Amino acid sequence: MSGRGLKDMVNLSQDAIDPAAELESEKEVPGREGACQLLRCDDQELPALLASARRVRTRFKPGVVTYSRKVFIPLTNLCRDYCGYCTFRRDPGQPGAHTMTPDEVMEVVRAGERLGCTEALFSLGDKPELLFPEMRDMLHGLGYKSTLQYLEAMCERVLRESSLLPHPNPGLMSAECGSDA
Ligand code: SF4
Repeated sequence: MSGRGLKDMVNLSQDAIDPAAELESEKEVPGREGACQLLRCDDQELPALLASARRVRTRFKPGVVTYSRKVFIPLTNLCRDYCGYCTFRRDPGQPGAHTMTPDEVMEVVRAGERLGCTEALFSLGDKPELLFPEMRDMLHGLGYKSTLQYLEAMCERVLRESSLLPHPNPGLMSAECGSDA
């Protein structure tokens, strides 16, 4: 990194949270290489990462809070886990238990488009097909071996057929999840 250490680059010190020093250091916005190095920072360097992010925000988006206009797509609320705090999951047959069909997904996506949304946020339980034959049957009927395969296919449809960006939130995954499981 051209002779400059991470701490030099992001000015790691209490100065980072001093307004005057912060204004002075606004010029010290990391370039691509520095930003990549920040991504790999350890716990000790985390304050440097946060200080750098703050400077970038102050310099490029002062006083601006951004958010993503999204539609929520609960692909399935069936789940093999039983986290005690969870109010989302259901067992098959319970009131509110539901796995969305592709048509239902695209209906929500199109409604989101009409309302000016930019993102389709997929939420779902963890590999319900491993516990519930009902889920295995539904996936089989749709042509998929796993919920993650189904999710992948729906994300691709959203990408191809709409202006929304798919944002999957599937929980635990492995490299094999999309191809088998
Ligand atoms: S894995 Fe997620 S959906 Fe399943 S019970 Fe836990 S929090 Fe709920």
